[in-house]
Amino acid sequence: MKFSKFFMPTTKEAPKDATLPSHQYLIRGGFIAQTGAGIYDFMPLGKIVLEKIRAIVKEEMDNAGANEVQLGFVTPLSLWEESGRSNTMGAEMLRFKDRKNSDFVLSPTNEEAVVNMVKNRITSYKDLPVHLYQINTKFRDEARPRFGLMRGREFLMKDGYSFHSSEEDLIREFNLMEATYKKIYTRLGLEFRVVNADSGAIGGSGSKEFHVLANSGEDTIVVCDSCDYGANIEAAVRKPNKKEKLQTITLEKVETPNQKSIEEVNNFLGTDSYYSMKAVIKKAIYEDKTKIAVFFVRGCDELEETKAVNAVGAIDLEDASEDEIEKVGLVAGYCGILNITSNVLVVVDRELEGENNLVIGANEENCHYKGFDLTTLEDVTYKDLVAVQEGDICDCCGGKLSYTKGIEAGHIFQLGTKYSAAMNANFLDENGKAKPFVMGCYGIGVSRLVAAVIEQNHDEKGCIWTKETAPFMVDIIVSNSKKEEEAQIGEKIYKELKEAGIEAILDDRLNARFGFKMSDFELIGFPFAVVIGKKLEDGMVEIVNRKTLEKIEVEVENVTKKIIELL
Ligand code: ATP
Ligand code: MG
Repeated sequence: MKFSKFFMPTTKEAPKDATLPSHQYLIRGGFIAQTGAGIYDFMPLGKIVLEKIRAIVKEEMDNAGANEVQLGFVTPLSLWEESGRSNTMGAEMLRFKDRKNSDFVLSPTNEEAVVNMVKNRITSYKDLPVHLYQINTKFRDEARPRFGLMRGREFLMKDGYSFHSSEEDLIREFNLMEATYKKIYTRLGLEFRVVNADSGAIGGSGSKEFHVLANSGEDTIVVCDSCDYGANIEAAVRKPNKKEKLQTITLEKVETPNQKSIEEVNNFLGTDSYYSMKAVIKKAIYEDKTKIAVFFVRGCDELEETKAVNAVGAIDLEDASEDEIEKVGLVAGYCGILNITSNVLVVVDRELEGENNLVIGANEENCHYKGFDLTTLEDVTYKDLVAVQEGDICDCCGGKLSYTKGIEAGHIFQLGTKYSAAMNANFLDENGKAKPFVMGCYGIGVSRLVAAVIEQNHDEKGCIWTKETAPFMVDIIVSNSKKEEEAQIGEKIYKELKEAGIEAILDDRLNARFGFKMSDFELIGFPFAVVIGKKLEDGMVEIVNRKTLEKIEVEVENVTKKIIELL
């Protein structure tokens, strides 16, 4: 390819809202162009990178024995009604009507469609297992599309769905997919971590996420410093934080005027926040109603919202307004579990179970209780609610837990029979008995990976593509294309590299100055440049390594050999 024939509109300007390097550089480098909120076109450079990633994903999925299919981007709403998800998907699923007034959606994921494909076509255990995948456009009307390709509304995903006759066979495939995903991210040249995850709206039991490590990642990952435990904060567990049990004392109501926060209360009473119950009041959102929920954790702990959502089986949690809190009879700042109004949901963190001598709110203005014994209450729901903190102890090995930031680049789930049972998709087992398919599902954010590669690999000048993702390996820069000799040598090296099977692009632009060509090289981030300039008088050219910006001089005739060595 030659620059003179290539559409590559680089610019110095980045959009105002582009805070992440990948967002800035992909726009400035002419890889992508925004057409609407969270909607991007891929220009030639971006399309090459996207296709390279797609090809690696496809190759490894095919190697693992999965079959590529293509499901419609538009699916009838009736399929979502069959599974029951038409009510639970919320506003992320974009719905619309056709001219006949029938309802459709733009696919945000495709469990329903693939179950529909297999249903009544696979009828016997003898035809299982089967794994179908596609690499196709998804649309999610994200509340806050941002960070360019990282969180778009329209994006490219690899989504695979496997069908099995037993749980054991599903687990075999789940493990195979974990191994396959590791191969994919390794080939892409990425540093990543596999972590335990929350299953979210897609549902199911076991689930793991694959995170590309990068400071800008939106997800907080909890990792252990001495074993390979890793989990998304949403699902992370710790060794219970246990201090010695205090002596039981008599329950006593104490005045705590204007002491609302748990720190204020404990400072005022001279008590340890560990031995206190903090109330977090939220509004739980369900399909058909909302309900006020109160979550109790230790004063020294923080509530993990995803755990809280799961604990009350809600679709989401929102902050409750003062009005809503008052209406159900709660007193903000003084909310406690003893004699709490019965029209709210109450969940207590499991680490508090069996605790006594606690400070709790008294459900009346300016009052708390001291010496509360939680074991005196019956029918308390205990669930894991706490957000693991840095320095907490690993439950697997006793090591220290810490945080790191990750970009979720893949997610695999053991779905079980959630969708097959709801959609009545059955097979006949060895005994001729009808059973719902046991399913797994496996996603990779293909377009998000384009951004993730750059989040992990860039400097202040621009992108630094990894070998497997680079749009071209070598940028041949002719310093002054008006000089016949330089232009000729450029063509010669270009031909040689191409013949050696190395993807090269020739910067033959007549009217671009050397400095401009060099800054395009740095911004776009090809792994190497061959610079043809003044040294040509001595038969030499320069090879520049984009990552290190190191330069070496090489004889013109040795360029291809040297590049092969460097690769
Ligand atoms: P997130 O938590 O980041 O919103 P998710 O858990 O909703 O993602 P999945 O349903 O697991 O996403 O989708 C599979 C993969 O698709 C994700 O691991 C991610 O890499 C990618 N993905 C999800 N949402 C987006 C998006 N809005 N833009 C780009 N890629 C996305
Ligand atoms: Mg996910």
